[in-house]
Amino acid sequence: MVMPPANNLAITDRLNRPLHDLRISVTDRCNFRCVYCMPKSIFNKDYEFLKRDQILSWDNIVSVVQAAAPLGVRKIRLTGGEPLIRKDLENLIERIAIVDGIDDISMTTNAALLSRQRAESLKRSGLKRINVSLDAMDDKTFHVMNDMGVDVASVLQGIDNAAAAGIENVKVNMVVKAGLNDHSILPMAKHFHGTGQILRYIEFMDVGNSNSWDMKDVITSGQIAKIINAEMPIEPAEANYQGEVAKRWRYLDGGGEIGIISSVSEPFCGDCSRARLSATGSIYTCLFASQGHDLRAHLASGDNDALRDHLRQIWEVRSDRYSETRSQVVTFRPKVEMSFIGG
Ligand code: SAM
Ligand code: SF4
Ligand code: SF4
Repeated sequence: MVMPPANNLAITDRLNRPLHDLRISVTDRCNFRCVYCMPKSIFNKDYEFLKRDQILSWDNIVSVVQAAAPLGVRKIRLTGGEPLIRKDLENLIERIAIVDGIDDISMTTNAALLSRQRAESLKRSGLKRINVSLDAMDDKTFHVMNDMGVDVASVLQGIDNAAAAGIENVKVNMVVKAGLNDHSILPMAKHFHGTGQILRYIEFMDVGNSNSWDMKDVITSGQIAKIINAEMPIEPAEANYQGEVAKRWRYLDGGGEIGIISSVSEPFCGDCSRARLSATGSIYTCLFASQGHDLRAHLASGDNDALRDHLRQIWEVRSDRYSETRSQVVTFRPKVEMSFIGG
């Protein structure tokens, strides 16, 4: 039998944006307490993390991917919380890798748990790419950022383990928060210059309601580029594809490139083709959403066509563009936490 093309039902939202990426949060727990994401003042022993039975099974996650692929989803990113906390992630990856239409599976991780053995088994299961978060090159600053006493060396070892296991395209994400780690912008650039590992700076974002975000703590993409350019000259480079989140800059001396993700100072909602699935089974159509769309009833019914239609309906009425309208938002509104929905 001739199968129809996997994207035969490809959809767009109200702003004509396709659904192309699905980010899947596999846990809300983490072994770090990054100050900009899970500050200890809130994420402490009194915080109620999800219980085992509230978290989607792999069967359910695979069903969502199977329903999303015909609608246009090609790229899957596993995230959290810290995805490596889930010991059987390989099994999920293997199952997603064989879904018709999915051609890219990646993961965002803090890499502290990424042993050589784990990196190899992830690679074998079908993980193609990895983004590692690292916010400083010196332990003193990094300890302040992760607030769990994790050393830089353990993350660098994780990055090496990923590369040694043959996971291509290791990228490194650094969130920059004024007064905390902005002095690490240059040391980070120097460390990754010429390594082939692309460093991406991320503006500190007002995700969730826990991280006491303030515009004065944001070092903008323009400021970051200026700091780097003063010592290591760079020029803008073409985007690899439409909708690429990071703006690319190339070192003039041939030492590779960096990326800067400027959700705050230069929003990119116009090209946003990302949906997010929380560990509890809700779809969020924006990182800054107040509420998700609960899929659990559809998952429980086992009717995959109905699940796909439900996803289509959710996407077709989507009009989110929070970052472009951020300055107009004057009243408090609840937003989902980054550790719940994933980056
Ligand atoms: N634990 C994994 C990690 O840190 O890579 C995956 C989940 S984490 C929520 C995903 C990404 O979100 C990380 O790169 C992290 O640095 C970024 N992130 C978290 N809070 C942020 C914030 N307030 N502003 C900008 N980026 C943030
Ligand atoms: Fe954990 Fe990642 Fe959030 Fe840091 S950014 S607290 S590593 S989920
Ligand atoms: Fe996409 Fe929302 Fe971010 Fe805009 S603010 S780029 S719509 S996730």
